[in-house]
Amino acid sequence: RALPVDIREGNEIRPVPRACYARVKPTPVDSPRLVAASPSALALLDLDMTETERQEFVEVMAGNKLLPGMDPAAHCYCGHQFGNFAGQLGDGAVIYLGEVINSAGARWEMQLKGAGLTPFSRQADGRKVLRSSIREFLASEALHHLGVATTRAGCIMTSDTQVVRDVLYTGNPVSERASLVLRMAPTFFRFGSFEVFKKTDTQTGGHLPSCFIARSMLPVMLDHIIKTFFPEIWEEIPRGKTEERRGNMYMDFYTEVVRRTFQLAAAWQCVGFCHGVLNTDNMSILGLTIDYGPYGFLDRYDPEHVCNHSDDSGRYSYEAQPGICAWNCEKLAEALAPVLDSSRARAQLETLFAQEYTKCVKQSALQQNKERTLHACVLLSCQSPCADARGTRARAQVMHKTGADFTNTFRWLSTVEMPPPSRAHSDNQASISGTSQAGISNGALALPQELAEAARPRMHPQNLRVLLQFSHNELLLASMGVTKEVLHQEMARLERCEELGKLDAAAKARADADAWRGWLRRYTARLQQEADAGANPQRRIATMNGINPRYVLRNWIAQRAIDAAEKGDYSEVRRVLRLLENPYSDDAAADLDASSGRSGSEAACGRELQYDGPVPQWAKGLCVSCSS
Ligand code: AMP
Ligand code: MG
Ligand code: MG
Repeated sequence: RALPVDIREGNEIRPVPRACYARVKPTPVDSPRLVAASPSALALLDLDMTETERQEFVEVMAGNKLLPGMDPAAHCYCGHQFGNFAGQLGDGAVIYLGEVINSAGARWEMQLKGAGLTPFSRQADGRKVLRSSIREFLASEALHHLGVATTRAGCIMTSDTQVVRDVLYTGNPVSERASLVLRMAPTFFRFGSFEVFKKTDTQTGGHLPSCFIARSMLPVMLDHIIKTFFPEIWEEIPRGKTEERRGNMYMDFYTEVVRRTFQLAAAWQCVGFCHGVLNTDNMSILGLTIDYGPYGFLDRYDPEHVCNHSDDSGRYSYEAQPGICAWNCEKLAEALAPVLDSSRARAQLETLFAQEYTKCVKQSALQQNKERTLHACVLLSCQSPCADARGTRARAQVMHKTGADFTNTFRWLSTVEMPPPSRAHSDNQASISGTSQAGISNGALALPQELAEAARPRMHPQNLRVLLQFSHNELLLASMGVTKEVLHQEMARLERCEELGKLDAAAKARADADAWRGWLRRYTARLQQEADAGANPQRRIATMNGINPRYVLRNWIAQRAIDAAEKGDYSEVRRVLRLLENPYSDDAAADLDASSGRSGSEAACGRELQYDGPVPQWAKGLCVSCSS
């Protein structure tokens, strides 16, 4: 059948039994060009930004040219997708180029995402489009700068090669530009990499090839991974002997993967990141965030928020993520069953979930030594864990009930002033500073528009008002099927509704403000305890602002950058990257204006973009799904 791109030698789509990878070259694109590059990611390859101006760089990053020593291949992995074993998946749109050991001695694997067909492409075309590439690029770098473990993205290329997509399954596919992302990680091995050893025929009713790879390969792969990426666990153990020691080493490896996975889940919960597709093939063996598709940062706090439009059952909702990570760890244990003591693994998993995850959310040090936990986000030391847990639950409830913005609420909490230490504990009410009160009335606590909608009268007010002008003309009214009496009744109802709507909205605003005041009273009482215990108010603000970001990659921010890029203007992608390189800085937006040479009113205009502001009206219906 006709395929959208040439199949080059070896790129045929097929199941690949008995292979962990297939050698395959990227398929070139027409007229490649650079969209954006991340200086800090390229630095990991010892490259600086001047490299991006060279034609050779563009050709290599677009998959049009290989450098000496590059050894391209596609990795075969399986996976549980949405709870079911899906058999062979593999790098269908990604091609491994090789590994670089940089001047600091760190190993970085380079992959091109969107590089064309591989034997694992199944029915798809092995390409990625500009919007999905921009989303992967910006999110990788945003999470890194937030201090969340993630794969990195070096640059985005786009081209004149066209690919066809039907984003919302409208039946009207459109042509988009084939685009590529250079992504990097020490390794892209995932849980699914170990699921290639499963016997699949019984589990899938014989639809899929059975047991892709000989079981004897499992310890070989495992040893390679432990030796290369977990040297602190690796032990040279002679084969055939000391099986118990070998078993212990594998258990240590499993435990470490589970621990990192829960740390990652905790970090996601703290910054309000929803991954969207937490299948076992998207779970990194290193505990990195991997594969950016229909992800989303929470705007309004809603524990049941589902960012992936195709996730009908809400399997991967925000609040489900830690539990899903545990489920995925269970699948990893199943895949490792031939060499792992299953009952010990299960016990480990349960203990780690109870201890590590809970601890992570409460007080663990994450990457970059940030004490980031939902507790630390409101910065209370753990003197009275029970009371704090109740306070945390209460805060979550108030945030949900009032539709508070997740990011802005945490950021705003640092403006709640800490009281001076009280000797007599007589006045334990902290004052709410001017900014806090502003926070109550806008942004963080924006009121739902739907309320006014709910009070809408049956007859559209506009039509009613027009009709009213003709109320003296009974003949005309009659011709429209309306009597004067009905018209006046409708008018009175409209006025009542409008009054009611205003009342409802006002009542809701009052109730929201009351809910917050109630919580704030407890919070400030708790702050008083901290102050009495000698906490320093300035340090508290600095610490909170160091773990509660001001800027996250909201879907609408990415979408604005995508809309401009699709028209050929890449400046917004680059600008957003620069903003997200300093997500904890209050000055990041102003710095952008300064560095782009804007001044005075122009600079103010830059700040007006309000990357930390409420979701603009046009972006309310934005939705993202697996298709890219
Ligand atoms: P994901 O849902 O992104 O984790 O992808 C699931 C599977 O689909 C993986 O095997 C991917 O390599 C494959 N895949 C995703 N997008 C494409 C594409 N455009 N072309 C070929 N394979 C793809
Ligand atoms: Mg994937
Ligand atoms: Mg993907």
